Amino acid sequence: MENIQFVSFKRKSKFINPLKNFQEDVHLLEYRQDPLMSTMSILGYNLADKAKMLFGDTDHDLIEQVAQESKPHCFMCPKKVNMTTPKYSSDILPQERVTVGEAILFPNLFPLSEFHAVCALTHTHYLNLRDFSPEILANGIQACLKFVKSAFNANSSAKYMTINCNYLFPAGASVIHPHMQVLGGDVPYTYLKNMFEGSLQYFEKNQSNFWNDLISVEKKAKERYIGKTGEIEWIATFSPLGNNEVQGIIGEKSNFLGLSHSEAKALGEGISKILKFYEEEGYSTFNFVIYSGPMGETTDWFWSNIRIISRANVYKNYRTDDYFLQKLLGTEIVLTPPEKLADKLKAKF
Ligand SMILES: [Zn+2]
Repeated sequence: MENIQFVSFKRKSKFINPLKNFQEDVHLLEYRQDPLMSTMSILGYNLADKAKMLFGDTDHDLIEQVAQESKPHCFMCPKKVNMTTPKYSSDILPQERVTVGEAILFPNLFPLSEFHAVCALTHTHYLNLRDFSPEILANGIQACLKFVKSAFNANSSAKYMTINCNYLFPAGASVIHPHMQVLGGDVPYTYLKNMFEGSLQYFEKNQSNFWNDLISVEKKAKERYIGKTGEIEWIATFSPLGNNEVQGIIGEKSNFLGLSHSEAKALGEGISKILKFYEEEGYSTFNFVIYSGPMGETTDWFWSNIRIISRANVYKNYRTDDYFLQKLLGTEIVLTPPEKLADKLKAKF
């Protein structure tokens, strides 16, 4: 456990501040390094007050208007989804599309990987974050897992799969209807590759699993540990990739082939609690990714996990929360300290 190092660097930034009568002002900054991949986040202790300005207030009337305008043309709504969406051929998916409860999974018309499926989650065209019930989320994840297993059966080299979600346009969604996406093939995406390399190096160096050690060290420290749903442990990430980031680690399950209904249910419960919390905090959009180790391999060095973040709120002329710092310098700004986030979220678990 002591093998995990939480490295941070504290620095000061000094200037003459017109908002304080042109007196000298000093802002405290903390650079935090991810213990696995060395990616960096900057925590600005003076930035919490700026959160409202950076993320804006959710314009619920605007969401309602966009929902109403887009509904008649939505291909994910119940009347159209069976008539207008693509299907898989029987060599990939014998049943052509996957259905679990209200969730229905079909191919993306514009794939970004060998396997790229879209899963419409509900018959309802728009959901508030509080309305993403554990069941809705679990059904969607279950449908994605069924597809992943089928795709892997069809092509065993497609071992790098991810389950992903964008909700609402500031988070990258082109369609308002709640949906998830499965992406993957035989080439791992950048972040997946880095996570695998870090996990494997850690395992070889320490003869232990990073993810298991991370749970132990965070549970012991109590600063960022949030709680448990089923076999999933939830933690506020020490060095986040996004705002209000929570990480869920799926104990003992290295990849999607080992996940079943109980893990889908536990994921659904955890995500639902986090989304309710985001709404209470005034957020309206989010992203998550569920990461799997390579399928069909023995991978004692990896446990599947999820990262979920809130994104910029919906309002007219909203400002993106992803700019040069994130896109080109690969560094995230942290407005809510992870310790404070964990403290608030603990009560919800
Ligand atoms: Zn719809």
